[in-house]
Amino acid sequence: MSIYQIAVDGPSGSGKSTLAKGVAKELGIMYLDTGAMYRTCGLAAIKRRIDPKDDAQVKRLMDEIKLEVKFIDGEQHMILDGEDVTGDIRTPQVSVAASDISALPVVRTAMVEMQRSIARKQSFVLDGRDIASNVLPNAKYKFFVTAKASTRAERRLAELQERGDFSQSYEEVLRDIEYRDEQDMNRLSAPLVQVPEAIVINTDEHTIEGTRDLLLSYINEVN
Ligand code: C5P
Repeated sequence: MSIYQIAVDGPSGSGKSTLAKGVAKELGIMYLDTGAMYRTCGLAAIKRRIDPKDDAQVKRLMDEIKLEVKFIDGEQHMILDGEDVTGDIRTPQVSVAASDISALPVVRTAMVEMQRSIARKQSFVLDGRDIASNVLPNAKYKFFVTAKASTRAERRLAELQERGDFSQSYEEVLRDIEYRDEQDMNRLSAPLVQVPEAIVINTDEHTIEGTRDLLLSYINEVN
C-alpha cells in the first residue's frame, strides 16, 4: 500500500495522543507526537534559562540546539543535544513553556519542516494542533478531537498523578489548560483550527477505546 498520513488535531487533554497511538498500532503504522517536539523546545528554553516568548533569544536558541526525533522499537524518543529527554518533557512547567515557545514562527518553521520530512518516509498518524491545516493539508484522513475544558483538566490531573506528580491541584491544571487553549487558538502563526473537512470527535461522550473504534470505522469506511 502507498504511504499515507492521518492527521489528529485538537486541544490539550482531548485524548488525541492516546487515540492517535491506538489507531497507529491497530493499523500497523507509525505514530508521531508533534507536541513532544514543541515540548522539547520548551525544555531547552527552561534549561538555558531563556524567556520562551522572547523572539531574539529563542532565535539564538534554535540555532544552537540540536533536536532529534528517534524511533526506538517503534517508540518516539526526543533527543536534545545528544541527551534522551523523553522522560523530562511532561511536567506542568514544560507544558506552559511549550505553549509559549510554539507561538513563535522561528520554532514552528523548524518543527514543521522536521515533521514533513519524517512523515514522508512511511505511513504515519500525527497528532497536534496544525497537522491538517498546515503540516499535511493533503493527509488522507483528518480528525479533530475535542472535549470540554473540565473533562480535559480531569484527565490531565489523573495523568500527572499516575506519574507520581501531585504538584498541581485541579484548579491549577484547569487554569493551565485554559491558558494553553487561549494561546493555541489565538496565536498568529498556525493556530489551532478545525479544517472544514475534518471529522469531529467529541471524547466527552465516549471512552478512549470507544473513540478509537469510531475513528477506525471512519477509516475503514473510506477505504
Ligand atoms: O500536545 P501537547 O499538549 O503535548 O503539546 C504541547 C504544546 O505544543 C501545546 O500546548 C501547543 O502549544 C504546542 N503544539 C503546537 N502545535 C502542534 C503540537 C503542539 O503548537 N502541532
